Amino acid sequence: MHAYGTVVACLFLLEQVVPFMGKRYSFICLAPVFIAVFVAQVHSSPPVMKEELPNIIQVFQRASEGHQETLRGKLRVEAQDGSLLLEDNQQVLHVIPGESITHREILDEDYLLTPKELGQEIVAELPAGFTFLTTRHYVICYDTSLGYARWSAALLERLFSGFHAFWSQAGLDVSQPEQPLIVIIFSNRNDYERAAKKEVGGAAHSIVGYYNQLTNRITTYDITGSDSTDTTPSQSSHSVGIEILRNPRASSLIATLVHEATHQLAFNAGLHVRLSPTPVWLSEGIATYFETPDLTNSRGWRSIGAINTTRLELVVQQFTPGLLSRFIADDKPFHDSDEALVAYAHAWVFVSFLATMKKDAFCSYVAHFDTKEPLGKDSAADRMAEFKTAFGMTPDALEPELIQYINSLARRKRP
Ligand SMILES: [Zn+2]
Repeated sequence: MHAYGTVVACLFLLEQVVPFMGKRYSFICLAPVFIAVFVAQVHSSPPVMKEELPNIIQVFQRASEGHQETLRGKLRVEAQDGSLLLEDNQQVLHVIPGESITHREILDEDYLLTPKELGQEIVAELPAGFTFLTTRHYVICYDTSLGYARWSAALLERLFSGFHAFWSQAGLDVSQPEQPLIVIIFSNRNDYERAAKKEVGGAAHSIVGYYNQLTNRITTYDITGSDSTDTTPSQSSHSVGIEILRNPRASSLIATLVHEATHQLAFNAGLHVRLSPTPVWLSEGIATYFETPDLTNSRGWRSIGAINTTRLELVVQQFTPGLLSRFIADDKPFHDSDEALVAYAHAWVFVSFLATMKKDAFCSYVAHFDTKEPLGKDSAADRMAEFKTAFGMTPDALEPELIQYINSLARRKRP
Protein backbone atom coordinates (compact mmCIF):
# COMPACT_ATOMS: atom_id res chain seq x y z
CA MET A 1 0.00 0.00 0.00
CA HIS A 2 1.48 3.32 -0.91
CA ALA A 3 0.93 6.72 0.55
CA TYR A 4 -0.91 8.74 -2.04
CA GLY A 5 -1.37 11.98 -0.27
CA THR A 6 -1.54 14.63 -2.93
CA VAL A 7 -4.90 15.77 -4.15
CA VAL A 8 -4.89 16.75 -7.77
CA ALA A 9 -7.48 18.49 -9.83
CA CYS A 10 -7.68 19.20 -13.50
CA LEU A 11 -9.82 22.10 -14.51
CA PHE A 12 -11.08 22.79 -17.97
CA LEU A 13 -11.26 26.55 -17.81
CA LEU A 14 -8.20 28.65 -17.22
CA GLU A 15 -9.67 31.42 -15.16
CA GLN A 16 -10.84 28.98 -12.54
CA VAL A 17 -7.56 27.30 -11.96
CA VAL A 18 -7.01 26.38 -8.40
CA PRO A 19 -6.48 29.38 -6.18
CA PHE A 20 -7.73 27.04 -3.48
CA MET A 21 -5.12 24.41 -4.06
CA GLY A 22 -2.43 26.12 -2.00
CA LYS A 23 0.77 24.16 -2.06
CA ARG A 24 -0.82 21.13 -3.54
CA TYR A 25 -0.02 20.39 -7.13
CA SER A 26 -2.78 20.52 -9.60
CA PHE A 27 -3.08 20.43 -13.33
CA ILE A 28 -5.43 21.52 -16.00
CA CYS A 29 -6.66 20.50 -19.39
CA LEU A 30 -7.15 23.35 -21.77
CA ALA A 31 -10.47 23.73 -23.43
CA PRO A 32 -11.59 26.04 -26.22
CA VAL A 33 -11.30 29.21 -24.21
CA PHE A 34 -9.48 31.01 -26.96
CA ILE A 35 -12.04 30.34 -29.60
CA ALA A 36 -15.28 31.43 -28.07
CA VAL A 37 -15.96 33.80 -30.94
CA PHE A 38 -15.63 31.06 -33.50
CA VAL A 39 -17.81 28.78 -31.40
CA ALA A 40 -20.46 31.48 -31.36
CA GLN A 41 -20.27 31.76 -35.16
CA VAL A 42 -20.62 28.02 -35.58
CA HIS A 43 -23.62 27.95 -33.26
CA SER A 44 -25.36 30.84 -34.95
CA SER A 45 -24.88 29.29 -38.37
CA PRO A 46 -24.65 25.49 -38.31
CA PRO A 47 -21.40 24.05 -39.71
CA VAL A 48 -21.29 22.34 -43.07
CA MET A 49 -21.74 18.59 -42.65
CA LYS A 50 -18.56 16.59 -42.11
CA GLU A 51 -19.10 14.37 -45.16
CA GLU A 52 -18.96 17.39 -47.43
CA LEU A 53 -15.63 18.62 -46.13
CA PRO A 54 -12.59 18.08 -48.28
CA ASN A 55 -9.75 16.46 -46.44
CA ILE A 56 -6.49 18.40 -46.72
CA ILE A 57 -6.58 22.04 -47.78
CA GLN A 58 -4.29 25.01 -48.14
CA VAL A 59 -5.61 28.34 -46.93
CA PHE A 60 -4.23 31.76 -47.87
CA GLN A 61 -4.94 34.23 -45.14
CA ARG A 62 -4.54 37.99 -44.88
CA ALA A 63 -2.33 38.71 -41.88
CA SER A 64 -1.28 41.98 -40.31
CA GLU A 65 0.33 44.78 -42.34
CA GLY A 66 -0.74 43.38 -45.67
CA HIS A 67 1.23 40.16 -45.28
CA GLN A 68 -0.21 36.89 -46.43
CA GLU A 69 0.07 33.63 -44.46
CA THR A 70 -0.45 30.12 -45.72
CA LEU A 71 -1.75 27.29 -43.59
CA ARG A 72 -2.11 23.67 -44.62
CA GLY A 73 -4.10 21.16 -42.74
CA LYS A 74 -7.02 18.86 -42.29
CA LEU A 75 -10.36 20.67 -42.38
CA ARG A 76 -12.22 19.85 -39.18
CA VAL A 77 -15.11 22.32 -39.17
CA GLU A 78 -16.39 24.90 -41.60
CA ALA A 79 -18.81 27.53 -40.35
CA GLN A 80 -21.36 29.00 -42.77
CA ASP A 81 -19.59 32.37 -42.68
CA GLY A 82 -16.49 30.63 -44.07
CA SER A 83 -14.53 30.46 -40.80
CA LEU A 84 -12.51 27.27 -40.53
CA LEU A 85 -11.09 24.95 -37.92
CA LEU A 86 -7.94 23.44 -39.39
CA GLU A 87 -5.58 20.83 -37.92
CA ASP A 88 -2.00 21.21 -39.13
CA ASN A 89 0.47 18.35 -39.47
CA GLN A 90 1.85 19.04 -35.99
CA GLN A 91 -1.67 18.29 -34.71
CA VAL A 92 -2.34 21.91 -33.72
CA LEU A 93 -5.88 23.24 -34.28
CA HIS A 94 -6.18 26.68 -35.88
CA VAL A 95 -9.21 28.91 -36.03
CA ILE A 96 -9.24 30.98 -39.23
CA PRO A 97 -11.81 33.78 -39.42
CA GLY A 98 -13.74 33.68 -42.69
CA GLU A 99 -13.12 37.33 -43.53
CA SER A 100 -9.32 36.86 -43.45
CA ILE A 101 -9.31 34.04 -46.03
CA THR A 102 -8.37 35.21 -49.51
CA HIS A 103 -8.14 31.86 -51.22
CA ARG A 104 -8.19 28.15 -50.49
CA GLU A 105 -7.40 25.02 -52.43
CA ILE A 106 -7.68 21.29 -51.94
CA LEU A 107 -4.37 19.49 -51.69
CA ASP A 108 -3.69 16.06 -53.00
CA GLU A 109 -0.36 15.57 -51.31
CA ASP A 110 0.75 13.49 -48.36
CA TYR A 111 0.09 15.41 -45.21
CA LEU A 112 1.44 13.29 -42.37
CA LEU A 113 4.97 13.62 -41.03
CA THR A 114 7.14 10.71 -40.00
CA PRO A 115 7.83 10.60 -36.24
CA LYS A 116 11.35 11.86 -36.92
CA GLU A 117 10.12 14.79 -39.04
CA LEU A 118 7.54 15.61 -36.39
CA GLY A 119 10.21 15.61 -33.65
CA GLN A 120 12.51 17.80 -35.74
CA GLU A 121 9.79 20.34 -36.49
CA ILE A 122 8.66 20.62 -32.87
CA VAL A 123 12.20 20.85 -31.49
CA ALA A 124 12.92 23.63 -33.98
CA GLU A 125 10.19 25.71 -32.31
CA LEU A 126 11.29 24.97 -28.73
CA PRO A 127 14.07 26.81 -26.86
CA ALA A 128 17.67 25.86 -27.65
CA GLY A 129 18.87 22.65 -26.02
CA PHE A 130 15.84 20.52 -26.82
CA THR A 131 16.13 17.17 -28.54
CA PHE A 132 13.67 14.31 -28.96
CA LEU A 133 13.28 10.59 -28.80
CA THR A 134 10.68 8.51 -30.57
CA THR A 135 9.03 5.43 -29.16
CA ARG A 136 6.33 3.20 -30.62
CA HIS A 137 3.54 5.71 -29.99
CA TYR A 138 5.22 8.90 -28.74
CA VAL A 139 7.55 11.70 -29.71
CA ILE A 140 9.12 12.95 -26.47
CA CYS A 141 10.80 16.36 -26.79
CA TYR A 142 13.04 17.16 -23.83
CA ASP A 143 15.95 19.20 -22.58
CA THR A 144 16.46 17.18 -19.42
CA SER A 145 18.48 13.99 -18.99
CA LEU A 146 18.00 11.16 -21.45
CA GLY A 147 17.30 8.86 -18.51
CA TYR A 148 14.36 10.98 -17.35
CA ALA A 149 12.97 11.15 -20.89
CA ARG A 150 13.28 7.39 -21.19
CA TRP A 151 11.65 6.77 -17.85
CA SER A 152 8.73 9.02 -18.88
CA ALA A 153 8.50 7.31 -22.26
CA ALA A 154 8.39 3.87 -20.65
CA LEU A 155 5.63 5.03 -18.29
CA LEU A 156 3.64 6.50 -21.19
CA GLU A 157 4.01 3.40 -23.36
CA ARG A 158 2.88 1.21 -20.46
CA LEU A 159 -0.14 3.44 -19.98
CA PHE A 160 -0.84 3.36 -23.73
CA SER A 161 -0.92 -0.45 -23.75
CA GLY A 162 -2.95 -0.61 -20.54
CA PHE A 163 -5.43 1.99 -21.76
CA HIS A 164 -6.04 0.29 -25.09
CA ALA A 165 -6.24 -3.19 -23.53
CA PHE A 166 -8.66 -1.96 -20.88
CA TRP A 167 -11.15 -0.48 -23.35
CA SER A 168 -10.81 -3.31 -25.87
CA GLN A 169 -11.54 -5.87 -23.18
CA ALA A 170 -14.47 -3.78 -22.02
CA GLY A 171 -15.86 -4.02 -25.56
CA LEU A 172 -15.14 -0.52 -26.82
CA ASP A 173 -13.83 -0.08 -30.34
CA VAL A 174 -10.68 1.96 -29.63
CA SER A 175 -8.56 3.22 -32.50
CA GLN A 176 -4.82 3.75 -32.88
CA PRO A 177 -3.75 7.39 -33.20
CA GLU A 178 -2.96 8.46 -36.76
CA GLN A 179 0.23 10.19 -35.63
CA PRO A 180 2.57 9.85 -32.63
CA LEU A 181 1.49 11.55 -29.43
CA ILE A 182 3.62 14.53 -28.44
CA VAL A 183 5.02 15.21 -24.98
CA ILE A 184 7.26 18.17 -24.05
CA ILE A 185 9.44 17.83 -20.94
CA PHE A 186 11.35 20.84 -19.63
CA SER A 187 14.41 20.24 -17.46
CA ASN A 188 13.38 22.65 -14.74
CA ARG A 189 10.45 24.48 -13.31
CA ASN A 190 11.52 27.99 -14.37
CA ASP A 191 11.84 27.18 -18.07
CA TYR A 192 8.61 25.21 -17.94
CA GLU A 193 6.73 28.08 -16.28
CA ARG A 194 8.03 30.57 -18.80
CA ALA A 195 6.79 28.44 -21.68
CA ALA A 196 3.57 27.32 -19.98
CA LYS A 197 2.57 30.91 -19.21
CA LYS A 198 1.90 31.47 -22.91
CA GLU A 199 -0.73 28.74 -22.83
CA VAL A 200 -2.08 28.77 -19.29
CA GLY A 201 -1.23 32.25 -18.03
CA GLY A 202 -0.81 32.72 -14.30
CA ALA A 203 -1.88 29.13 -13.64
CA ALA A 204 1.54 27.93 -14.77
CA HIS A 205 3.02 28.39 -11.30
CA SER A 206 0.54 26.03 -9.67
CA ILE A 207 0.48 23.15 -12.10
CA VAL A 208 3.05 20.47 -12.88
CA GLY A 209 1.76 19.58 -16.31
CA TYR A 210 -1.18 19.91 -18.63
CA TYR A 211 -2.78 18.52 -21.76
CA ASN A 212 -3.90 21.14 -24.28
CA GLN A 213 -6.72 20.14 -26.62
CA LEU A 214 -5.65 22.82 -29.11
CA THR A 215 -2.09 21.54 -29.51
CA ASN A 216 -2.84 17.90 -28.57
CA ARG A 217 0.33 17.99 -26.46
CA ILE A 218 1.30 17.35 -22.89
CA THR A 219 3.75 19.83 -21.37
CA THR A 220 5.50 19.07 -18.10
CA TYR A 221 8.93 19.26 -16.44
CA ASP A 222 11.48 17.08 -14.69
CA ILE A 223 10.48 17.04 -11.02
CA THR A 224 13.78 15.62 -9.92
CA GLY A 225 14.97 19.13 -10.72
CA SER A 226 18.27 17.73 -11.81
CA ASP A 227 18.51 20.19 -14.69
CA SER A 228 20.89 17.55 -15.90
CA THR A 229 22.88 17.59 -19.07
CA ASP A 230 23.74 13.94 -18.52
CA THR A 231 22.92 12.20 -21.77
CA THR A 232 24.93 9.05 -21.18
CA PRO A 233 23.09 6.16 -22.75
CA SER A 234 24.00 4.03 -19.74
CA GLN A 235 21.67 6.00 -17.49
CA SER A 236 18.86 3.48 -17.25
CA SER A 237 15.23 4.34 -16.78
CA HIS A 238 15.31 1.97 -13.78
CA SER A 239 17.91 4.07 -11.94
CA VAL A 240 16.04 7.25 -12.87
CA GLY A 241 12.84 5.64 -11.62
CA ILE A 242 14.42 4.94 -8.24
CA GLU A 243 15.58 8.54 -8.04
CA ILE A 244 12.12 9.82 -8.94
CA LEU A 245 10.44 7.69 -6.30
CA ARG A 246 12.77 9.14 -3.67
CA ASN A 247 11.34 12.55 -4.43
CA PRO A 248 8.59 13.52 -1.98
CA ARG A 249 6.55 14.77 -4.94
CA ALA A 250 6.76 11.47 -6.83
CA SER A 251 3.15 10.60 -6.15
CA SER A 252 1.98 13.96 -7.48
CA LEU A 253 4.18 13.83 -10.56
CA ILE A 254 3.17 10.32 -11.55
CA ALA A 255 -0.51 11.00 -10.94
CA THR A 256 -0.24 14.18 -13.01
CA LEU A 257 1.61 12.62 -15.89
CA VAL A 258 -0.70 9.61 -16.04
CA HIS A 259 -3.79 11.79 -15.64
CA GLU A 260 -2.80 14.13 -18.47
CA ALA A 261 -1.59 11.26 -20.64
CA THR A 262 -4.95 9.56 -20.12
CA HIS A 263 -6.71 12.68 -21.42
CA GLN A 264 -4.39 12.69 -24.43
CA LEU A 265 -5.08 9.01 -25.08
CA ALA A 266 -8.83 9.46 -24.73
CA PHE A 267 -8.76 12.29 -27.28
CA ASN A 268 -6.68 10.17 -29.67
CA ALA A 269 -8.20 6.71 -29.33
CA GLY A 270 -11.78 7.46 -30.29
CA LEU A 271 -13.21 8.13 -26.82
CA HIS A 272 -13.51 11.89 -27.19
CA VAL A 273 -13.16 14.38 -30.03
CA ARG A 274 -11.01 17.48 -29.42
CA LEU A 275 -13.09 20.61 -28.78
CA SER A 276 -16.32 18.64 -28.86
CA PRO A 277 -18.85 18.82 -26.01
CA THR A 278 -17.49 15.96 -23.89
CA PRO A 279 -18.90 16.22 -20.36
CA VAL A 280 -16.18 17.14 -17.88
CA TRP A 281 -17.34 14.50 -15.38
CA LEU A 282 -16.73 11.78 -17.97
CA SER A 283 -13.36 13.06 -19.13
CA GLU A 284 -12.12 13.70 -15.58
CA GLY A 285 -13.67 10.51 -14.23
CA ILE A 286 -11.75 8.47 -16.80
CA ALA A 287 -8.49 10.37 -16.15
CA THR A 288 -8.78 9.92 -12.38
CA TYR A 289 -9.70 6.25 -12.84
CA PHE A 290 -6.32 5.65 -14.50
CA GLU A 291 -4.14 8.00 -12.44
CA THR A 292 -3.34 5.99 -9.29
CA PRO A 293 0.46 5.70 -8.99
CA ASP A 294 2.26 2.61 -7.79
CA LEU A 295 5.19 3.75 -5.71
CA THR A 296 6.22 0.19 -4.84
CA ASN A 297 8.32 -0.19 -7.97
CA SER A 298 10.62 1.99 -10.02
CA ARG A 299 8.19 2.08 -12.94
CA GLY A 300 5.83 4.19 -10.87
CA TRP A 301 2.54 3.05 -12.34
CA ARG A 302 0.98 -0.31 -12.96
CA SER A 303 -2.67 -0.49 -12.16
CA ILE A 304 -5.87 0.67 -13.79
CA GLY A 305 -8.84 1.24 -11.57
CA ALA A 306 -7.04 0.84 -8.25
CA ILE A 307 -8.75 2.58 -5.35
CA ASN A 308 -7.87 6.26 -5.53
CA THR A 309 -7.48 6.66 -1.78
CA THR A 310 -7.57 10.43 -1.53
CA ARG A 311 -10.61 10.73 -3.73
CA LEU A 312 -12.39 7.88 -1.94
CA GLU A 313 -11.83 9.55 1.44
CA LEU A 314 -13.25 12.79 0.08
CA VAL A 315 -16.33 11.18 -1.42
CA VAL A 316 -16.99 9.21 1.81
CA GLN A 317 -16.73 12.40 3.87
CA GLN A 318 -18.63 14.65 1.50
CA PHE A 319 -20.99 12.54 -0.56
CA THR A 320 -23.40 15.04 -2.09
CA PRO A 321 -26.84 13.76 -3.12
CA GLY A 322 -27.88 15.17 -6.49
CA LEU A 323 -24.35 16.17 -7.56
CA LEU A 324 -24.26 13.45 -10.22
CA SER A 325 -27.42 14.83 -11.82
CA ARG A 326 -26.03 18.33 -11.71
CA PHE A 327 -22.71 17.48 -13.34
CA ILE A 328 -24.27 15.20 -15.91
CA ALA A 329 -26.49 18.09 -17.00
CA ASP A 330 -23.81 20.80 -16.78
CA ASP A 331 -20.03 21.14 -16.16
CA LYS A 332 -20.52 23.95 -13.64
CA PRO A 333 -19.61 21.98 -10.46
CA PHE A 334 -16.10 21.53 -11.92
CA HIS A 335 -15.69 25.23 -12.46
CA ASP A 336 -16.81 26.23 -8.98
CA SER A 337 -13.74 26.46 -6.75
CA ASP A 338 -15.81 25.53 -3.68
CA GLU A 339 -17.09 22.34 -5.24
CA ALA A 340 -14.49 21.25 -7.81
CA LEU A 341 -12.49 18.81 -5.69
CA VAL A 342 -15.63 17.13 -4.39
CA ALA A 343 -16.91 16.94 -7.97
CA TYR A 344 -13.65 15.28 -9.07
CA ALA A 345 -13.99 12.73 -6.28
CA HIS A 346 -17.58 11.99 -7.33
CA ALA A 347 -16.53 11.74 -11.00
CA TRP A 348 -13.80 9.25 -10.06
CA VAL A 349 -16.07 7.01 -8.01
CA PHE A 350 -18.90 7.24 -10.54
CA VAL A 351 -16.67 6.14 -13.42
CA SER A 352 -15.22 3.39 -11.22
CA PHE A 353 -18.79 2.25 -10.43
CA LEU A 354 -20.00 2.40 -14.05
CA ALA A 355 -16.87 0.68 -15.42
CA THR A 356 -17.23 -2.09 -12.83
CA MET A 357 -20.99 -2.55 -12.39
CA LYS A 358 -22.49 -1.25 -15.68
CA LYS A 359 -19.71 -2.01 -18.11
CA ASP A 360 -21.75 -2.58 -21.30
CA ALA A 361 -23.94 0.47 -20.85
CA PHE A 362 -20.90 2.55 -19.90
CA CYS A 363 -19.06 1.50 -23.07
CA SER A 364 -22.00 2.37 -25.31
CA TYR A 365 -22.32 5.70 -23.53
CA VAL A 366 -18.58 6.45 -23.96
CA ALA A 367 -18.62 5.36 -27.63
CA HIS A 368 -21.34 7.89 -28.30
CA PHE A 369 -18.94 10.78 -27.66
CA ASP A 370 -16.74 9.84 -30.59
CA THR A 371 -19.59 10.94 -32.85
CA LYS A 372 -19.61 14.53 -31.52
CA GLU A 373 -18.44 17.34 -33.78
CA PRO A 374 -15.69 19.76 -32.71
CA LEU A 375 -17.21 23.01 -31.41
CA GLY A 376 -20.64 21.44 -31.13
CA LYS A 377 -22.85 22.18 -28.17
CA ASP A 378 -25.16 19.99 -26.09
CA SER A 379 -27.91 21.34 -23.87
CA ALA A 380 -28.48 20.08 -20.34
CA ALA A 381 -31.56 18.24 -21.65
CA ASP A 382 -29.47 16.56 -24.40
CA ARG A 383 -26.88 15.46 -21.86
CA MET A 384 -29.43 14.05 -19.47
CA ALA A 385 -31.31 12.28 -22.27
CA GLU A 386 -28.09 10.65 -23.53
CA PHE A 387 -27.35 9.38 -20.05
CA LYS A 388 -30.85 7.96 -19.60
CA THR A 389 -30.72 6.29 -23.01
CA ALA A 390 -27.45 4.52 -22.17
CA PHE A 391 -28.22 3.48 -18.60
CA GLY A 392 -32.01 3.14 -18.69
CA MET A 393 -32.48 5.35 -15.64
CA THR A 394 -31.73 8.76 -14.21
CA PRO A 395 -28.52 9.47 -12.28
CA ASP A 396 -30.64 10.03 -9.16
CA ALA A 397 -32.12 6.55 -9.51
CA LEU A 398 -28.57 5.12 -9.66
CA GLU A 399 -27.46 6.81 -6.44
CA PRO A 400 -28.52 4.09 -3.93
CA GLU A 401 -26.50 1.50 -5.85
CA LEU A 402 -23.56 3.90 -6.05
CA ILE A 403 -23.67 4.47 -2.28
CA GLN A 404 -23.49 0.69 -1.73
CA TYR A 405 -20.50 0.59 -4.06
CA ILE A 406 -18.75 3.42 -2.18
CA ASN A 407 -19.37 1.61 1.12
CA SER A 408 -17.90 -1.60 -0.28
CA LEU A 409 -14.76 0.27 -1.43
CA ALA A 410 -14.45 1.95 1.98
CA ARG A 411 -14.69 -1.46 3.73
CA ARG A 412 -11.95 -2.81 1.47
CA LYS A 413 -9.68 0.09 2.37
CA ARG A 414 -10.07 -0.45 6.12
CA PRO A 415 -7.08 -2.17 7.76
ZN1 LIG B 1 -8.08 16.24 -16.12
